[in-house]
Amino acid sequence: MADSIFSKIIRGEIPCLKVYEDEKVFSFLDINPIAPGHTLVIPKEPAETLDQLSDESAAALGKILPLLCRAVMKATGTRQYNILQNNGKGAHQAVAHVHFHIIPKPNSTEGLGIQWPTRPLPQEQGQEILAKIRDAIAGTVI
Ligand code: AMP
Repeated sequence: MADSIFSKIIRGEIPCLKVYEDEKVFSFLDINPIAPGHTLVIPKEPAETLDQLSDESAAALGKILPLLCRAVMKATGTRQYNILQNNGKGAHQAVAHVHFHIIPKPNSTEGLGIQWPTRPLPQEQGQEILAKIRDAIAGTVI
């Protein structure tokens, strides 16, 4: 697995503004924030995308993420925010190490802007993809 810039940050080889650290999770301020308080939360495990992450790291991230959201919102005085988690270059992932963005949304100009090209789900298409997803879940050991 490639050694990303985030692994170097975890090891202290590259400086960062550290927000939090425990045995499995590390968090620091984004170097190019799109809103004040823009924070990254990453597993220490060097998985590239969320689907590749171990259950242990996923559990640790899931446990701490709400606490860090509360801290960032309290510190910025913001009540609204987005969690962004990109997987793959085509999905805007620039750093190949799993990371969650906590992005405060203080107003309409700062924070995350979203394009949401909705269209109604045709019944047949819904049933088809639903069956495939359920089959994939059934084939996975949980
Ligand atoms: P993504 O497009 O989801 O892969 O986001 C990667 C994020 O990492 C961007 O928001 C970058 O600003 C941020 N980033 C890249 N290098 C650093 C760094 N050395 N310290 C803090 N944040 C970084």
